[in-house]
Amino acid sequence: MHEEMKSGSCCSGEKGEGSSVPEKRLGWHEYFMNVAHLISRRATCSRAHIGAVIVRENSILSTGYNGAPSGLPHCNDSNCIIYESKHPDGTVEENCVNTIHAEINAIALAAKHGVSIKDSDIYITASPCIHCLKVLINVGIKTIYYDKPYKIEQIDELLRLSGIRLVQVNLASNLKE
Ligand SMILES: [Zn+2]
Ligand SMILES: [Zn+2]
Repeated sequence: MHEEMKSGSCCSGEKGEGSSVPEKRLGWHEYFMNVAHLISRRATCSRAHIGAVIVRENSILSTGYNGAPSGLPHCNDSNCIIYESKHPDGTVEENCVNTIHAEINAIALAAKHGVSIKDSDIYITASPCIHCLKVLINVGIKTIYYDKPYKIEQIDELLRLSGIRLVQVNLASNLKE
């Protein structure tokens, strides 16, 4: 018993052989973006794996990942149903009929449990599509933090008109704006 207690320590930086440089403490942006990436690993649509975390005052209010509605069959290679839509700029976008986007699932979960998400921020592993952005504006999200850019040129105007902030938290490098 005592042996076990001694071998486990909650604190880094203990002196003596084998001690290493204490790991740098995660900043809030890295913390929430890492959580978003972890959540994305629950995604079921084979098109993309996206995670989202809604945060206010450094507390997580809701989370979501992309996938089929609760209780319905998950996407996989055989039932992922892709449809194409054409953006006014001429680019063709592909989406899956079965899938709800991660941001919308995070909003739906908050609604389900009656959690107010007004004036909160969202961390998403990729920047939102224009459809999700419209909903993020309407639920009162202040800042969207994203890791990987996804067709940002298509949401430029909506960002400018709405005043919602879009900030990159690229885990591979540092915080950029
Ligand atoms: Zn799918
Ligand atoms: Zn979307």
